[in-house]
Amino acid sequence: MRAVVCVPGGVEVAEVADPVARPGEVVVAVEACGLCGSDVHAIEHGMTVDGQILGHEFAGRVVEAGSDVDAGLVGRAVAVNPVGSCGSCRACARGVPFQCPAVPNVGITAPGAYAQYVAVPQGQLVRLPDHLPVELGAHAEPLAVALHAVDLARVGPGDCVLVYGVGPIGLNAVIALRLAGVDAVVAAGRSPGRRAAAAAVGADVVVDTREVSIVDYAKQHGTRFTAVLECSAAPGAAMEALEVLAPGGTFVEVGLATDVAPVPLPRLVGEGLTLTGSCAFDAPTYQRAVDHIVAGRAPVAALISERVGLDATPEALVRLRTPGELVRLLTRPWD
Ligand SMILES: [Zn+2]
Ligand SMILES: [Zn+2]
Repeated sequence: MRAVVCVPGGVEVAEVADPVARPGEVVVAVEACGLCGSDVHAIEHGMTVDGQILGHEFAGRVVEAGSDVDAGLVGRAVAVNPVGSCGSCRACARGVPFQCPAVPNVGITAPGAYAQYVAVPQGQLVRLPDHLPVELGAHAEPLAVALHAVDLARVGPGDCVLVYGVGPIGLNAVIALRLAGVDAVVAAGRSPGRRAAAAAVGADVVVDTREVSIVDYAKQHGTRFTAVLECSAAPGAAMEALEVLAPGGTFVEVGLATDVAPVPLPRLVGEGLTLTGSCAFDAPTYQRAVDHIVAGRAPVAALISERVGLDATPEALVRLRTPGELVRLLTRPWD
């Protein structure tokens, strides 16, 4: 098969051996896989292993079933939860299944879906109905990331929430906050195209942080946020976000921030603030993401700005280092 393979200094398209379904696994022909900022980050910073195949936001069709697997799955459209979980270790019990040492994560510690085929455990499949374009299943992963972050924020009706950063995860956070029924969603970002996308998927107010800082915006409007979902990973963003948090509020770091932020401990105690990090999701949250997409409740298709074939994928992963107007790119390995 053809796949996008990590090589020294980047990635390239190569011919590699087809994966084989081991007992309990299926092989999925990948229909679409989202190009994720975490992959862009890993490639750019040399955090990949030569020969590794990335890609963890995907859907496709089962083409082969290993032993112990229901052969009736062959031909079925599926979204694939990339997070491997044994369900019984301490990491799984503590709600951080992506840290489970027993089962690898597809496209991270196991071969992923920037490829024509990928082998995955049967238990990580979620069936898609026949009427749904299979490609939409590729959006379940980033939506599940956002649903988990919103769960940690503990928000709902009556709350005003800030989404700081409007990349694909920030935009999915806007969608997840609308699904949670919060009263007001304020999104803040720099790129005009992505700010427009934030409004399109349900943000009530979109702040251009090139014009006004979020701290100044909050002062001008007398706004304090019940929660801030920090999705930009920009240096200094966490400190700004903490400044605009209401008493009892929750700060959730979702972006892959690399800076170290000082924490205002007196406010943490005096105002009862909660600070937490959000990474990935558990299996029920992934299922919830698929259910929202199937039911048409999550306008994820509005986020697609470009589709590329495998040959154009290495170059697209480079373009995403400076995304500008790009919102969400999908690779379609058979196009
Ligand atoms: Zn991702
Ligand atoms: Zn486990």
